[in-house]
Amino acid sequence: MKQRMATQVVHAGREDLCSLGVHVTPIDLSSTYPTPDPDAAAASLEAFVGGAENAVNPVYARLHNPTVARFERALATLEGADQAVAFGSGMAALTAVLLALGDRGKHVVAVRPLYGGTDHLLATGLLGTEVSFVDADAVAAAIRPDTGLVMIETPANPTVELVDIEAIVQQAGSVPVLVDSTFATPILQRPLELGATMVLHSATKFLGGHGDVVAGVVACGAEFAGKLRQVRILTGAILHPLAAFLLLRGLSTLRLRVLAAQENAQQLASRLARHPQIAKVHYPGMGGQRQSAILNRQMVGPGSVLAFEMHSGAEADRMLRALRLITPAVSLGSVDSLIQRPAALTHRIVDAQARSEHGISDGLLRMSVGIEDAEDLWADLAQALQAAEAPMAQAA
Ligand SMILES: *Cc1c(COP(=O)(O)O)cnc(C)c1O
Repeated sequence: MKQRMATQVVHAGREDLCSLGVHVTPIDLSSTYPTPDPDAAAASLEAFVGGAENAVNPVYARLHNPTVARFERALATLEGADQAVAFGSGMAALTAVLLALGDRGKHVVAVRPLYGGTDHLLATGLLGTEVSFVDADAVAAAIRPDTGLVMIETPANPTVELVDIEAIVQQAGSVPVLVDSTFATPILQRPLELGATMVLHSATKFLGGHGDVVAGVVACGAEFAGKLRQVRILTGAILHPLAAFLLLRGLSTLRLRVLAAQENAQQLASRLARHPQIAKVHYPGMGGQRQSAILNRQMVGPGSVLAFEMHSGAEADRMLRALRLITPAVSLGSVDSLIQRPAALTHRIVDAQARSEHGISDGLLRMSVGIEDAEDLWADLAQALQAAEAPMAQAA
């Protein structure tokens, strides 16, 4: 019987624990594995190098790790994918995707805005790819015979603008579509059900959820997963088994965390929208009719990342300095609330004109709302906004 999400987050990838006689995910730290049967070892090695998901003998930890494989099975289940492949970071996962495109085509069509690192990796062409950055409506027109990938991020970083996944899939035709679903998690959005080819997560964010893991994962069909594993073996971008353990532990509470943080974010977004010092609030569903329609069609809820505009970078920085509870820091999706100024940090390496064209103003602050009490969060925001308003009084 197909289980529901609340059950899957707790049990996926861990179904056999009871029969193994253990209650908690075992952590296998072996860097190498005994190979008493040379034939079995050789066959296993060949299978892994060919992209196999499993074999009789793990042989060596760069080829396979049972704890990591559990996290991968869990994520594949949550995303409704054949398989998933985990990496040492979200950027390592994206790198593997770009390298695995191979002769399918080195041209990538990407919809801005994107995570700053993603934007930079594509823009520099470091991995031999060529990129066309386009608006969501212009994907079809940008596709060439050598286009190997269409890439979107929704909600997008940092303006949480939504991109219509089904509309992109339609425009892409036979070209694979990658959705970076980091901000949504499988709790709020399942891109493969909408026709996307693969889903990427920076597992560093919500999947881990406690700010203590750096990881990435791609959920996709079996064939492309095999290619990703081949790239992972050769480039060595593996995930450490302790990190995989922490990710599985994080997944257990993923649904509860995502829903609790979302409730807080909804409250803060509407209070910020009414605050006289805030020029604009960015939050899924608050960006007009078209954005609301996309939200209702492809997401269960708006999530817990929001952004708001102060009048200048200096005013925003004064606010950051005045915070006492909310931590000024990059990253997101932790149990505690984090805030940062994208123009100064996460999107600093993005072309300045591209920043302003996509709403990343100097005074924009991005907040990842945690699971604290909403009243305490609001009290901190309110006092910091007040402190930011009166620089003259402070200077005097
Ligand atoms: C953080 C992030 C990444 C990069 O992931 P790392 O784990 O930091 O390498 C990619 N996409 C999005 C949307 C992110 O927030």
